[in-house]
Parts: sequence; structure tokens; C-alpha cells
Amino acid sequence: MQDFSEKIQQAHNEKLGRHLVANMNIDAGETLLEERPLLVAPHWECGQMKCAQCMQESYVMCRRCQVFPLCMDCSQHSDFECEFFASGAGSRICKDLLVKNYGICGLLKLLLLLEDPATRADCQTLVERTVQLEDYRDGEGMWQEHEEQVVRPLLASGLAEAMPTQQLTADVLHAHCIRIDCNAFEVTGRDGETLKGVYVCGAGLPHHCVPNTVVALDEQFNMKLYAAVPLNDGDVIYNSYTNPLMGTSQRQHQLRLSRHLDCTCSRCQDATEMGTHMSSMKCRECSAGFAICEIGPDGSGDWRCLDCNALLPAADVHELLAEAGGALVEAKGDLQVYESLLVRYKQLLHPNHFLLLDIKQNIASILRAAALMNSMEQPCKKLLARRVELCSDLLPVCRAVVPGLSKLYAIALFEYLLSLVELIELQFAESDLTKKEYAAQLRIGSQAAKEALDMLRFEPENSAEGYLTDRISMELERIDSDLMKYGGR
Ligand SMILES: [Zn+2]
Ligand SMILES: [Zn+2]
Ligand SMILES: [Zn+2]
Ligand SMILES: [Zn+2]
Repeated sequence: MQDFSEKIQQAHNEKLGRHLVANMNIDAGETLLEERPLLVAPHWECGQMKCAQCMQESYVMCRRCQVFPLCMDCSQHSDFECEFFASGAGSRICKDLLVKNYGICGLLKLLLLLEDPATRADCQTLVERTVQLEDYRDGEGMWQEHEEQVVRPLLASGLAEAMPTQQLTADVLHAHCIRIDCNAFEVTGRDGETLKGVYVCGAGLPHHCVPNTVVALDEQFNMKLYAAVPLNDGDVIYNSYTNPLMGTSQRQHQLRLSRHLDCTCSRCQDATEMGTHMSSMKCRECSAGFAICEIGPDGSGDWRCLDCNALLPAADVHELLAEAGGALVEAKGDLQVYESLLVRYKQLLHPNHFLLLDIKQNIASILRAAALMNSMEQPCKKLLARRVELCSDLLPVCRAVVPGLSKLYAIALFEYLLSLVELIELQFAESDLTKKEYAAQLRIGSQAAKEALDMLRFEPENSAEGYLTDRISMELERIDSDLMKYGGR
């Protein structure tokens, strides 16, 4: 199921447990690991039934077992899972098991993989990872949702009695649910729906907020892990399970919730967040200084100005961020509200602060949607220019937080490119730009397109990123042909 490259090997230490390290010097882009998913499952809260075979929407049930949905395109699903309910140990279980509780689907699939002698070994690495249930039981994480949507209905169905060797108790089932969540990547189904793909090796890599690898997923849910940056012999292979555009406090909160992990990586310990200042505040005492968090041994600390040394208590910062977070939720997609929030918080936060980035991304996406739907009666140059400005603000931050080959940076470049081309074509058509000025802008666009293509060159063709590559290539062709016409070189 997994295919390790000879360039990496297993290692073990106390802090990371079992992990992978580079076996030699490796170039950026080189493949380290290829893996098929152990299982692909809908999210727990998914109410829409999916074909057991291909995971696209389905309302029809498999005629043989009558338990699993099967779409028109698929004639059968896993023989073992079908047989189990058709005439095996599960034949006495009520046929509307999934119809009534579709949330159990992912766990049910895992239990059947464990039951099947042919796939049991594949699951071993996953199930032998111990889960400290006490860490999860009363936490604010997923426990309650697992309990209501998965564990209780599954136990009530009589399935535990049909799989006696697995000794399924509520705790065993909870541990499996947590293992599924902790070892899943979000994957996209054929119908565009997001699903959970459970990968035993790829998703079990230790976390670092600045990963040295990229995870590529193709349409068949195959995973390829490749080096994002050159690796040295002995380097630990890391993946990231957070959004790099979040600030340290947000990322850590999310990692605690989703993975029960206290991250102490280099970015988390660097109050400037790799020079981006994504969590820095404007100093209240002096006009020009920025205050950074003085991270204490427990991970919390007050903010202090780098220029005048003035103190900004952590409680004040947290209060401000909570207020701003609330205001963002309240804004509910209103462009004017976002713009006024931006004006307000610019006075208090570093220009690269994650909250300002969040507001800017919101504004940019509203402007993009408006442009797509042609809802701006006449595409107003002012709004197009605003979008270019916002997209260009994001570029240096995206570049800094994910070094090397980066899908995040590629997508940011693409967004910038689209907004730029739209603006300059209109400006040129309305004679705001001379031929020479237009050509100069086209060259900037061409450069951005090439850089984006370079970032994506190791992505599989049949993937979302592969299609993005085609889209950028088309844009580049268009730009280059205009450059031939107007470039005059
Ligand atoms: Zn199907
Ligand atoms: Zn069936
Ligand atoms: Zn970290
Ligand atoms: Zn100051």
C-alpha cells in the first residue's frame, strides 16, 4: 500500500516516536513516498450518502448487501464488505444501518478492513498507535460528536456482536475515530465533495509549522510526498497539519484541538514568525515600533516593543484579537464592513498580522466572486486595482511562511496574476496605459505565471494542481502573445 523511496528510512526517538529521515542528500521535488489511502470516508457529519466504491453521491443501495450505497457507474464494492452483510456475520443486522446513521460510514469501513484477513495487516500500523483517551474525553474536541454520531449508533446496531474478535467497546470505537481523524488528509471526490482520506504513513509524519515536504493528492486519492526544499542526509521528514497563514496562537490552538499536539517548532518559538511579524502588534507608546510576544517556557508571554521596550500585556492582546475575531464573524461577507475593519485594525496591528491577512483575503475573494459573476455592472477599475493590491500584499507572506516548493505561494501568484491581467487589459483598452506601460505590466504577469508554474512542476497531472497548471499555462500563452504584439522588443 505504501512505497518508500530508497532515499528515506525509518527512525525512532523518544520525542517523535517512529518517524522517517532522509537517507542521503535529496533535491527539492524528489519523491519520498507514494501511498494509496487505507480508506476514503465522508466526514462524520456528512448526511449525503456516497457510493461505497467511488465515493460520489448515490441514492441507490447495493442490491446484494442492501447496506452500502452503490452509484450507477459502479457495479460492485469491496467483496468482503458486501459479503459480510449479504450472507456473512452481519447478515442479521438491520439493512438501514447506513441510511439511518450515515455518520458511522468511515468507522464501519475501518472495522470491516480489520475484520477482513486480506486487509488486516494494512491497518496494523494505524491501530497499533496508542491513543490516550483521557486526553480527549472531556476536551473541546470531537469527542461528543464521535459519541453521538458514530459510537452510540454503531453499538446500538449490534455490529459489535457480529465482530466478536475485535472486542468492540465504546472506548475501542472512540480510539478508532480519533485514529481516523488524526491520519486523514482532506481529499476531493469526483463530484467535488471533500472527504477524508486516511493515510497511514503520509499522515503519520511528525508535524512542523514549516514543513520540508509537499503532499500531492491525485483524483484517485493517491498520495505522493515530495521534498519541498533540499534535504540533508539525516533530516527528519516533516509535514504540516495547520494553515500556514494563521498566527502562532491560532495554529497552536488548532493543533491542540485536532491532534493534541503542543508544537515547539522553530516558527512557533520565533516571535517574529520567520520575520513576517504575523503576530506582532503596533506599539502603543512609540509611533514606529512593533511589539512581539516574549514567549515564556509555557508558551505564553506579554508583548514588548522592539524599539522602546514598552510592555503590552498578553491579556490586552487576547482581548483585542477576540473582539476582532467576533467582528469578522459579524461581517458576514459585507465588503464595506471588511474594509472598515481593515482601517480600524491597521492602526493596532503589524501590516502582516494574520488578522489583517484574513480580512484582506476575505475582501479579495468577494471581489473575485463579483468579477466572476460579472456583478460589477462595469468592472470598476478602482475595485480591480484594489484586488491587485490585496493579492500582491499576500505574496511576500506566502513566500516567507512556506519556503521552497509551495502550493500556497503558487495559488497566491495565480490569484495575483488573474487580477493583474484583468486590470491592465481594461486599462489598456481604455487608453489609461500606453503600449509601453502595458507591455511592462504584462512582463510582470508573465514572470508571476512562470514562477507559479515552477512551484507546481512536481504535482501530478490528474489533480486539482495539475489543472491549475494548465490554467496558468493558458494565461501565460495569452500574455506572451500580447507581449509579442505590444512588447516591441
Ligand atoms: Zn460509484
Ligand atoms: Zn453490497
Ligand atoms: Zn509550530
Ligand atoms: Zn514602542
